Formats: sequence, structure tokens, C-alpha cells
Amino acid sequence: MALVPMKLILDEANKGGYGVGAFNVNNMEQLQAICDAAAETSSPVIVQVSRNALKYADKGLLAAMVRYMAEEKYPQIPTALHLDHGPDIETIKECCELGFTSVMIDGSLDYATKDANGAHPARSFDGNVAITREAVAIAHSYGVSVEGEIGTLGGIEDDTVASAAHLTDPLEAEEFVKQTGIDALAIAIGTSHGAYKFPVGTEVKLALDIIDDVHKRVPEIALVMHGSSSVPKHMVDEVNKYGGKVPNAVGVPTAMIQDAIKRGMRKVNIDTDGRLAITAAIRKVFTEKPEAFDPRKYLGPARDAVRTWIIEEMKAFSTAGHAGDYQPVSLEEMKKRYAG
Ligand SMILES: [Zn+2]
Repeated sequence: MALVPMKLILDEANKGGYGVGAFNVNNMEQLQAICDAAAETSSPVIVQVSRNALKYADKGLLAAMVRYMAEEKYPQIPTALHLDHGPDIETIKECCELGFTSVMIDGSLDYATKDANGAHPARSFDGNVAITREAVAIAHSYGVSVEGEIGTLGGIEDDTVASAAHLTDPLEAEEFVKQTGIDALAIAIGTSHGAYKFPVGTEVKLALDIIDDVHKRVPEIALVMHGSSSVPKHMVDEVNKYGGKVPNAVGVPTAMIQDAIKRGMRKVNIDTDGRLAITAAIRKVFTEKPEAFDPRKYLGPARDAVRTWIIEEMKAFSTAGHAGDYQPVSLEEMKKRYAG
């Protein structure tokens, strides 16, 4: 199967009432772990690449590797290649040319501007609508799906740093969908990017009722949850046990993500957990086998650790078993649907 538009995967998830993990990749081992886990659990999967991952891995290289996994290795698995937090129109165009099947335009933040703390200020509603509409016009002309965002998340992910966090207003969300024509909508419900989402020792609270409200208003639009890593304690403990310094890291409990999915959340973005799994595995090898210097001896266990964890996530989000539910749709076909 060629790569499929993300809209196809999320529309199916919406019909079936389950969630789909969107996992970030920067290198071969992460990608293999994600696709192997999808094949093992027969799950549709979204592989996502941030702007800094594109810089890190020579742009076309990651796209070519993802295409290989989808077309050659696991043709039975619906796989979407998605741009995470597209900052501007230029990057959107570039990714459409590179064969991405989905892009996010993050119009919630003005990436061209930074405040004194290095954070990006929020865009106005109208500014967000304008850049998102432009991204939709371009991406849809390629048959490529578009995710937009309304409201802003706190925390740090690559250079996605907002100067202030704002929860999504459901009325605004409805209006935003109407005015932009997006396929998927990221909403802010109190999660944040990174490993330190909540103060340690406090009760984790999310505004889950916002999901109910937005889902009711725009039931055909797939909702997206950013900053959804669970930051599992066993991973953090493992990192710290082998010489790491990641104190007081707290994420979103899996049960809370499952609740969000029940309420209509469809795309669950996870990056931090993969980073922690890799770091824990590599630190363990370095501590226990200081004589090891073959990268395969520590990147291999890191890849295994990520795969094991993603298998758990795919089961927890009820994605497992759904890979064979539907026929693939090409970007060409999507192009026609958007045009008609
Ligand atoms: Zn994000």
C-alpha cells in the first residue's frame, strides 16, 4: 500500500470510535520501531516529522524511509506521513512536494516572531484563519490532508514554545473549522509539550468537557491531542537510575487519554515517551556494558524498547486490529474529492 492521506485514517477512526497514535521520528530506529509495532498489532499508523527533524535528517531521507516502510515492508498497514507543527506556507509546500500525505499548519503561533524569552506569540483568530486557509488551498491541491490548531499549548517541543497557553473555546473551534476547510483540528485542553506537563504531586487535570463540546459541534472533524505523552514512571526511573537527570517528569495518564478518545479525540500525538524509552535503553547499555562501542549494540535495544512501548499504546488506544478495515485511497483520488 502506498502512503495514505491522514484524513482516511482519521475518518475511519472517527467511524470506529478509536484513537490513532501519531509518533514522531528523527531516525531509522524510531521509524522501524513504530512500523514494526503497527504491523505486529495490525494498526493504522501516523508517522510524524517536525520541522527540526526535517533539518536533522536531510528532509527527503525521512520521507523516503517512511515510503519504503509503507510500500515495501508493510503494504498491509495504512500509514500516513505527517508534518508536525508546520510553521509557515513554505514548509507546507516543501512537504507536499516531498510526498507527505498530511501537514499541520500551526497558525496558533507566529513562528516568525519571538518574544524576549524566545517564545512565539499567539496569532489572532483572523491571522490563524488566514494562514490556515492558505495552507489548505495548497495542500488539498496535492490531495494532502491538513491539521489546524486553535488555542495554544504550553511547554516545549523542539522550538514550539508558546508565550502563553490558552484553552480552546468550542465556539471559536466551530467557526475555525467552517472558515478554513481543515480535515483535523488540534485543540488545547490543558496538556503541554515536553516531559514536565504538570507539577509533581498534584492531581493531573484536563478540560475533557471541551472535547465533548467541540466533537458535538463538528462531529465530522477528527480532533487532535498534542502533548499526550504519558511519561511513564518506569521509563523516567530507568533514565535516572542509569545516570540521567530527568527529575519530577509528569505526563498524561493513559486512562485519561482513553477517556479523551471516548469523547471524540482521534489523533494522539506522542513524542516525549519515545525519547525517554530510547534514552533509558542506551543509558542502561552504557552503564552495564561500558566496553560496548558498536552503535548497533545500544541502538538495537533502544529500538526494541520503543517498539514494546508503542505496541502497548496501540492496544490502549484501541487502534490494534483496524489496519484491514478499509481500502486505501490515493492522493490523486483525494485531490478529486477536494476539487469536487
Ligand atoms: Zn504538538
